[in-house]
Amino acid sequence: MSTLRFKALKDAQKRPTQTVDTSVLRSTIFRSLVFDKDTMRQYVPKASYGSILRAIEKGDTISRETADAVANGMKLWALSKNVTHYTHWFQPLTGATAEKHDAFFELGIDGAVLEKFDGDQLIQQEPDASSFPHGGIRNTFEARGYTAWDPTSPAFIYGSTLCIPTVFVSYTGEALDYKTPLLKALNAIDEAATEVARYFDKSINKVSATLGWEQEFYLVDRALADARPDITLTGRTLLGHTSAKGQQLDDHYFGAIPSRVLNYLKELEYEALLVGIPVKTRHNEVGPNQFEIAPIFEEANLAVDHNALLMDLMERVAEKHHFKVLLHEKPFEGVNGSGKHNNWSLATDTGINLLRPGKTPTKNLQFLTFFVNTIKAVYKNQDLLRACIASAGNDLRLGENEAPPNIISVFIGAQLTKVLDELEKVTDGKLSPQEKTELKLNVVGKIPEILLDNTDRNRTSPFAFTGNKFEFRGVGASANCANPMTILNAIVCEQLIEFKKEVDFLIETKDMKKDDAIFNILREYIKDSKKVRFEGDGYNESWEKEASKRGLGNSKNALEALEAKIAKPNVALFESLQIMNATEAKARYDIEIESYIKKIQIESRVLADIARNHIIPTAITYQNTLIRNIEGLITIYGKEKYGAFAKAQLDIIQQLSDHIAHLNTLISDMIETRKNVNSLSLNKKAYAYNEKVLPYFAIIRRHSDKLELLVDDSLWPLPKYRELLFTN
Ligand code: ADP
Ligand code: MG
Repeated sequence: MSTLRFKALKDAQKRPTQTVDTSVLRSTIFRSLVFDKDTMRQYVPKASYGSILRAIEKGDTISRETADAVANGMKLWALSKNVTHYTHWFQPLTGATAEKHDAFFELGIDGAVLEKFDGDQLIQQEPDASSFPHGGIRNTFEARGYTAWDPTSPAFIYGSTLCIPTVFVSYTGEALDYKTPLLKALNAIDEAATEVARYFDKSINKVSATLGWEQEFYLVDRALADARPDITLTGRTLLGHTSAKGQQLDDHYFGAIPSRVLNYLKELEYEALLVGIPVKTRHNEVGPNQFEIAPIFEEANLAVDHNALLMDLMERVAEKHHFKVLLHEKPFEGVNGSGKHNNWSLATDTGINLLRPGKTPTKNLQFLTFFVNTIKAVYKNQDLLRACIASAGNDLRLGENEAPPNIISVFIGAQLTKVLDELEKVTDGKLSPQEKTELKLNVVGKIPEILLDNTDRNRTSPFAFTGNKFEFRGVGASANCANPMTILNAIVCEQLIEFKKEVDFLIETKDMKKDDAIFNILREYIKDSKKVRFEGDGYNESWEKEASKRGLGNSKNALEALEAKIAKPNVALFESLQIMNATEAKARYDIEIESYIKKIQIESRVLADIARNHIIPTAITYQNTLIRNIEGLITIYGKEKYGAFAKAQLDIIQQLSDHIAHLNTLISDMIETRKNVNSLSLNKKAYAYNEKVLPYFAIIRRHSDKLELLVDDSLWPLPKYRELLFTN
């Protein structure tokens, strides 16, 4: 009897639901553990408060005095909440968050005990982090990095620690984290988009990118997850026959959230609201035991921090409820993978969403400008968009007939397609007054504020316009949103700069009116980027053929896709916008390649261990049972007659032997292959892992899954799919 699995099952089934009183009004707890503007006003002197606001809103530099005053305010506030430690909280390129706690507690020269926290400690800290991935940057330059305060993301309290959001850079200034290039990209798009927005409204002085993510995940009972070495060590199942019932009935999606899960989600939301994450919706997803949680959108940098923080909270709160959260892009074969849709738009400091159609022709020309420029940016930079969602985990999800394909295309809906088709016909050169009136009244003026067909949106598109924002659906569930947000904002920024140049050129040299110039350039952009627009079914095989005819990219795996990150024109783009230099771009690429290798390597080791130490011995144990049964039959019926009673047993024994033999050979071959490729240089090794090691996974799995169907259920050591997916 396989004790671990059955003990886990027993535990999981009689797990009491943990109820937490979260029945307080959300508005009373929201942000109560955040050092936000309101709190700051109470704790920081007026003059310093003004300076810090200017630093947050306009990027002004922060003086020593201001930093000291803010630090002091933070300390007083934190001490009033019984906080004992502070930490610089940052997002290294491992994908997780990192922190190093220091106590406020200090001893003065005369032995006096004091709680100390000043501007120095607020602004900068050395996390002593030689083991964070750095892609060679710190080796080449200097072996140290430091964290620096990001005043645009407010400090918050978690447990008894004051957490200060920071960037992480090397002493020579190269970024070692996700946030640094993101902040630079957000700055760049602010500048470029503001300039363009001022064509329409001179009162606009700032444009912020907005992000609303939707986090999908699986919840599995902790004991069941712990009984599976693959889930414990790789976050996904490497083996396991699909359950007789999967997601065919779609009953999970429409069903009520199970009470144990609901209690978990309630506590998670409660904790999230305290630290200022504006979580709003929760619901079941398509897969059994799959769920989604989404907030109200926020300024992109804050939203990125909040997603990283939520992923931390998800795991911490799950422990209390005896769940394991699976953020992997494809934890189970045969059921839906998990993504993290990134809803993105641009908002002005005058409160306008630049991607929302308006009431007047001018508002709509503004909308069309940003809308068409985004489509053109996506068309020109499909490779970068595909690269920023590339990972070993997402390889298993993308293009799997439930997730967006590897091909980047844009869905805009029938109404806007019609508008763009009309705009394509705009006269080349100056427009006659009649033409202009006609255009404004009947094309631009007719865009409805609410786009009906976008509510019934195309679920198969990787990049869809959903009425007042674009939804980038390719992003994987475990990803840090900073990566896609850096790329998306960078490419749209570059496009807007080019647009402004071209429009100004027509105005200045061709003596065109502003609107004529804009119509002319938009017409060209609509034509140029038409190939990236696709309204059909992205899951259909015919799309792949069609896309190839259109010349759209179709990188089949992360490695191919990642090459775009170091392609010359792309590095030039990063450099021209001062988002990253060539060294930083290469370092990031190397880190991602290395992480790809490590992931496949670890999975391969775990798979070999489980197959050899759990599956084969279990199959042999069962075979022995059958052999003893046959010996018994011989005793009863004798050597001549027993055969009539042992047909099934003999057949199963034979099948078991076949699978065991195959498994054993495959495992040895895979290990041998790994040994051979491990000595290759980084890039070759990554491709070798993809082409030579990875293919073993499916074949090994096939034999193991066949054995799962043959072997006595009571002997099987690993919790089965039906148990992992349907217990809660
Ligand atoms: P649904 O997609 O379920 O119909 P919504 O359209 O309201 O729901 O929003 C989906 C996600 O898009 C939410 O996370 C929301 O915060 C986000 N979102 C809505 N408007 C914007 C915007 N202007 N910018 C960025 N994200 C947005
Ligand atoms: Mg959604």
